[in-house]
Amino acid sequence: MDKLDFEAAEIHIRNSVFQIAARALELRINADSSDFTGPRRPCSCGQTARYVDRREKTFTSVLGGLKLQRAYYHCEFCGKGFCPRDRTFGMDGNPVTPGVLRMVGSATSEVSFEISSGLLWDLAGLRIDAKQMERIAERLGQEMAEDERHETTPFENGELPPTLYLGIDGSGIPVRPEELTGRAGKQADGTAKTREGKLVIVWSAESRDKEGLPVRDPDSITYSAAIESAATLDTDECPSEFAGRVQREAARRRFTEAQRTVVVADGAKYNWNVAFELFPRAIQILDICHAKEHLNEVANAIYGKGSPEAEQWATLRKEELEDQRLEELLAALNAHADTCKEAKTCVGYVEGNLHRMRYREFRAMGLCITSNIVESGCKVIFTSRFKHSAMHWSVAGANKILAIRCSKRSGRLEDFFERRAQQKMAA
Ligand SMILES: [Zn+2]
Repeated sequence: MDKLDFEAAEIHIRNSVFQIAARALELRINADSSDFTGPRRPCSCGQTARYVDRREKTFTSVLGGLKLQRAYYHCEFCGKGFCPRDRTFGMDGNPVTPGVLRMVGSATSEVSFEISSGLLWDLAGLRIDAKQMERIAERLGQEMAEDERHETTPFENGELPPTLYLGIDGSGIPVRPEELTGRAGKQADGTAKTREGKLVIVWSAESRDKEGLPVRDPDSITYSAAIESAATLDTDECPSEFAGRVQREAARRRFTEAQRTVVVADGAKYNWNVAFELFPRAIQILDICHAKEHLNEVANAIYGKGSPEAEQWATLRKEELEDQRLEELLAALNAHADTCKEAKTCVGYVEGNLHRMRYREFRAMGLCITSNIVESGCKVIFTSRFKHSAMHWSVAGANKILAIRCSKRSGRLEDFFERRAQQKMAA
């Protein structure tokens, strides 16, 4: 027994067992021809499709390949053919079964299509190449994005925490050149290399750390993100696409039902327009991480990047910021406003956001201001999956994978697949 090649044995046994199970499942499904419902069937184009024959197709299942025979209908009017059973199983147009679809979604929401392909081979013994992986994931992502737009049933029914936080932020996603035509950007020549992915997150912070300061509750955070328009509400008749997304996430979390609501965002004007229009009674907090970043930039512009003087100056300004000594902060900035463009811009930034920078008061109210929850939310959603230098996304492709990633990281994948199976069977 000690000479047993354990790995070879376990893999061999798994494959044999799976093969037997796959044949049994095939037999069971193929013995049932109830998917033939007569010589004619309505086609999705509105006309009538005609039964042709039973057709076999191999699907990749968690047990390996399955050869399934399905009733095939063809519509002469639109020229398209379909198998009703594929629709019932949620496999129409897909080369994989729902079990494998979930694996593909789970892997591709975390890592590249290439790595996902390797993972499915290593973990499940399934051969799906990177290109197929991408096609399958994009179809799934499309479904999930549509589901997100319609499914705003509250996520939790229980008692809400007394305070709920909603954060808005954005981050550049590298996209293909054709996605950037006519867009101004941050490159030296005025062009762009990225499109902004916009993120809304909701969380609670009833937990306290050792010093009694509020920290984010574990598992309380949910995400929704896409590259989409966030035009300001006052110029638009209906809310922008992104405002709609914010509203849906708020509905799923019953955000407006909480006793106290807080919106945390950076200085971008559209964020506050969205906040004001959708949540007029929410306390507005300028994300302190962003404010500190601005002060670092000003310090570097005045004293030279990374110089000890810059660091010292920035440290003092951040203390003033934390202590809500905003007049002192403004005086220090104004002292450089004539000679430093960045300092002048920052004066406007602070003056425009004074009521959102009452950090001492916010702390006294027991509000969570210090941790970089919104920023790390951006990292969780965008950085590791979307920002590799070699990646060049299409906007549509990125949005589909974003839909899967946000759903997974929000703990909603299970619900989605359950809903999907029920809808397919009911259709
Ligand atoms: Zn048709």
